[in-house]
Amino acid sequence: MEKKVLVCEDETAIRDFIVINLRRNGFYVIESDSGEEALRKYDEEGGKIDIALLDVMLPGIDGFEVCKEIRARNKSIGIIMLSAKSQEVDKVTGLTLGADDYIAKPFSPSELIARLDALGRRVAISNSSTEAMVKESLTSGDFTLNLINHELNWNGRRIELTQTEFQLLEFFFQNPGIAFERSRILQKVWGETYSGEEKIVDVNIRRLRIKVEEDPSSPKNLLTVWGMGYKWEKRD
Ligand code: CA
Repeated sequence: MEKKVLVCEDETAIRDFIVINLRRNGFYVIESDSGEEALRKYDEEGGKIDIALLDVMLPGIDGFEVCKEIRARNKSIGIIMLSAKSQEVDKVTGLTLGADDYIAKPFSPSELIARLDALGRRVAISNSSTEAMVKESLTSGDFTLNLINHELNWNGRRIELTQTEFQLLEFFFQNPGIAFERSRILQKVWGETYSGEEKIVDVNIRRLRIKVEEDPSSPKNLLTVWGMGYKWEKRD
């Protein structure tokens, strides 16, 4: 089934470039030239959008704000941020706003499509996997990850996860105590064909720690393995 993508970009030339390339590759595109319009169109579609492609710098509310708003309404939608400067990329990485990926401008049509395809596949798998799922949840210490509704429960407290955070935790819960390199995590969670940077793993780990650690600056569950990557420590 064709994927529905909400594109929010205020620069006409870039927006046209994106839209033409997405349509050429079989995506159904909804365009907007401001954050306000993007949110309005999101609501008009009843939230039935697979991926939102959001430029960071916009004339009214910025792309970060749009990302937060959309994420608050929909935790399984895929969100990719588009940013013009490396400075903005740093800002994206430092934020805890719920984007799944980011693409730095300028980018080629093939890179854009590769990233959308990769995220689109993950979103589709997670939305359809509920039917084929044998297990309903994964437990690790005080944590229970519900595989049906993708919620995390920690000592009776319900924690909302983005799609990427859910997949990361699912992976870690299935492999407790094993240290994984970033490249391996990237391959397992983002998929073999993902062409982005390994830094996105760190961004998501930082965000997850805020949700699964008493003190995110001194993690007890989601540990850094120096010179290597990360591991999930099961604590009973
Ligand atoms: Ca812009």
